[in-house]
Amino acid sequence: MTTKSKLLFIVTIMLLALGMATIVNVSLNFRDYSIKSAVEKSTMTAAIVKDGLTSHMVNGIMDKRQYFLNQISNNHSDVKALWIVRADNVIKQYGPGFNSETIRDSIDAKVLSSGTMIQKINENADNITLRVSIPYKATNFGTEVNCLQCHDVAMGETLGAISMEFDITSMRNSGMVTIFKILAINIIFIIIVLLLINYYVTPYMKLFTNMQEGITKAYSGDFSHEFKTTVSGDGKNIVSQMNTLFRKMQDTFGDIKYNLSTFIPQGCVSSTDPLYEAKTIIGELSDIYKFKKTIELDASKDIVYQRIVDVLKNKYKLYHFAFYEVDVNQSKRKLFYISQGESICNAEVNEEASMCRAYRTNTDVISTEFIGLCQTCDAGQLDYICIPFNINDEHAIIISITSRNKNEISKINTHIPSIKNYLEAAKPVIESRILMDKLRDTSLRDGMTGLYNRRFLEEFIDKVMHQAKREKETYSVLMLDVDFFKSVNDTYGHDVGDIVIVAIGNLLKDAIRESDLAIRYGGEEFIVMLHNADEKGTMKVAQDIHTRFSQLTFDVGNGEVLQKTISIGIAKFPQDGDTIWKCIKHADTALYVAKTTGRNKIVKYKPEMSESEGIR
Ligand code: GH3
Ligand code: MG
Ligand code: MG
Repeated sequence: MTTKSKLLFIVTIMLLALGMATIVNVSLNFRDYSIKSAVEKSTMTAAIVKDGLTSHMVNGIMDKRQYFLNQISNNHSDVKALWIVRADNVIKQYGPGFNSETIRDSIDAKVLSSGTMIQKINENADNITLRVSIPYKATNFGTEVNCLQCHDVAMGETLGAISMEFDITSMRNSGMVTIFKILAINIIFIIIVLLLINYYVTPYMKLFTNMQEGITKAYSGDFSHEFKTTVSGDGKNIVSQMNTLFRKMQDTFGDIKYNLSTFIPQGCVSSTDPLYEAKTIIGELSDIYKFKKTIELDASKDIVYQRIVDVLKNKYKLYHFAFYEVDVNQSKRKLFYISQGESICNAEVNEEASMCRAYRTNTDVISTEFIGLCQTCDAGQLDYICIPFNINDEHAIIISITSRNKNEISKINTHIPSIKNYLEAAKPVIESRILMDKLRDTSLRDGMTGLYNRRFLEEFIDKVMHQAKREKETYSVLMLDVDFFKSVNDTYGHDVGDIVIVAIGNLLKDAIRESDLAIRYGGEEFIVMLHNADEKGTMKVAQDIHTRFSQLTFDVGNGEVLQKTISIGIAKFPQDGDTIWKCIKHADTALYVAKTTGRNKIVKYKPEMSESEGIR
């Protein structure tokens, strides 16, 4: 029900209640009045009849009484019946009288026996009558009229009764007409009032509805509503002020949205509510700003990657995902983080990154878009979203998110633009950390062989050692030196010497595992550190290097071929020394022993060798 209908309904009910109260009041009063006046009339008529009968009696014409009674009935149209009845004492003295004078009903009998007047109203749908019966009592008004002269009765005894029936239907009818008139006036009044209310209230109601519409739209962020009204005065002013305010809001939010969207290139919010949109964009900007400020101070690329992982976990509540880094040049993919269990990707994808559909196509791969979309994964019941992101020409990131729930996948899908905003913010920082790593790597590597240099050893060996101690790991330290290398330079020149050095570098790289380290320690001296290798394994690698080097042939021109040998000293960390530096020193001691005992051999360090160290 509209407000206007409610108002009209309430007014109608109030006016109807008022009208009904008036009608009920008037009709009750009218009825009382009608009955009262009929009773008065009947009492008067009864008195006349009584006086008339007394006169008939006094004048001795009592036998003419019926004519008198008929005359009264005839002359008063509202007197429907008029009769008299005799009491037993009169009947006893003068006989029963006319036939019409016998007791007609219980009221006659009661009036005769009680001597009191009785009145009774009979009402039905067609008419309303008043029955009045008045006792006629023996009286004495001096010498002229003395009932006791003719009647053998005591004073005040009831001689008879005069009964009348009055028709008061016409009174009731005129009352009804009055009531109908009042009713008609009331209805006309109600209609006029309703029409007036409708006329004056409708424009306000329309304005009210219009305002409601505008405010509802504004609530959902649409301030384009134009308020309209036919109301003049204050109403018109309010409408014009509202229109100005709404236009301002619309323009301001439009500007805010436009300006903010330039900060976030990818749409992270899709709402028609500019206020909500502005709030969300500002929230997003603030989060990204804080994220960027934090990662700018992070020392390495891996820490930045970890921050991205944390954002995915904490902000986007992702619990099942993997984070990969792709080496574009080598087309290899490396797992940086995985939340739980195995990766859904087939193992060969790590070896050939272009097998990853997301990386190869550089588009988001969303499993719900097509059955079996990615051919190089084994997702089973899981759905997945794989997001590729290029950092630079050499590096890319792939985030592979999985879920058992399709609804969750579509929810994650809506987060992709926002996740990419984070990646975009991290991109320059990651790029600069990669560059830093590269520079650092260059300064830590020997330019000729590509092996780590002495500086690397100095910078990192303590860290390596602490880690080894913590994890109870071992390192076998091999110190290598080419035998009579000086003669190569002297005989064939430095260039040939350099070729030999490069060849050693390549041999070492090939002979060791990824967890081992090969370092160019000085001129033609090298250190190899074998990670967690037992004695047998250590010897095997040392012998392999030793043999393979001795088998290398170097073309020195004139059809001549050069072959060289190498000496190796071995010490074991932590068995031979509680620091790696000590072990390096002991490996050098063992090497010295190898050199001084004939060269071209592998010598393991023994503590007694240190005792004769002074010889060196
Ligand atoms: P030993 O068997 O005792 O080791 O005899 P050796 O002649 O090899 O003696 P040593 O190891 O002391 O000689 C190292 C020589 O290596 C000295 C230096 O001229 C040469 N050398 C050092 N660095 C380079 C380099 O980068 N290129 C070339 N061509 N020669 C180098
Ligand atoms: Mg040397
Ligand atoms: Mg040498």
